[in-house]
Amino acid sequence: TSFEELKVNKSILKALKEIGFEEPTPIQEQAIPVIRSGVDVLGIAQTGTGKTAAYLLPIFMKLVKAEGEDPRVLILVPTRELSIQVGEDIEELTQYSNLRHAAIYGGIGWTKHAELIKPGIDILVATPGRLLDLYQAGAVSLKKIKTLVIDEADRMLDMGFMPQIRKLLEIIPVKRQNLLFSATFNEKVEEMSHEFLAFPERIEV
Ligand code: AMP
Repeated sequence: TSFEELKVNKSILKALKEIGFEEPTPIQEQAIPVIRSGVDVLGIAQTGTGKTAAYLLPIFMKLVKAEGEDPRVLILVPTRELSIQVGEDIEELTQYSNLRHAAIYGGIGWTKHAELIKPGIDILVATPGRLLDLYQAGAVSLKKIKTLVIDEADRMLDMGFMPQIRKLLEIIPVKRQNLLFSATFNEKVEEMSHEFLAFPERIEV
């Protein structure tokens, strides 16, 4: 299967060529059509498998182009490093599209992050604590979120982010697609998937 056959948008295909991604990795081949169909997904895939693009590409297909001010996709990540990394991946992949994003994380003053969000964005990448701070300060609206990604769910659990994630899920709209990715699968991840996903399709590489 090629990225063309997976119906990736032209502007994204151009970026994939430029970056040098010639064909989809196994997780991308499996996940892209399933995520595109709109169902909830539990993805078990380690870093290095191409799992980030596996959820980003169908998200770009769903969004198509920049629209409005409030983010429509929320990607929750456990660490500052991963927030920056996912932000950079989005930056590269959307270089020929007009989709806008911001990557936020704790540890630095939040006014800088509020400035990133202010002009309007389509995709927000965030660590849970920082996002709650920004939300409570009125610096970000979450009322347009239609897709939620929880990346590195196992690390989220290890780092004790469940209370913050639960709080965020009370804020974002109920009607949405949920994608949960984890490097490992265990009882805790299973409980998390029962709590956050509805009839998920499970994908594993
Ligand atoms: P990830 O598992 O998302 O952390 O990605 C691991 C690495 O694989 C990253 O450096 C990506 O840039 C790279 N990558 C992702 N998808 C592809 C692909 N289809 N072809 C080649 N490299 C890829």
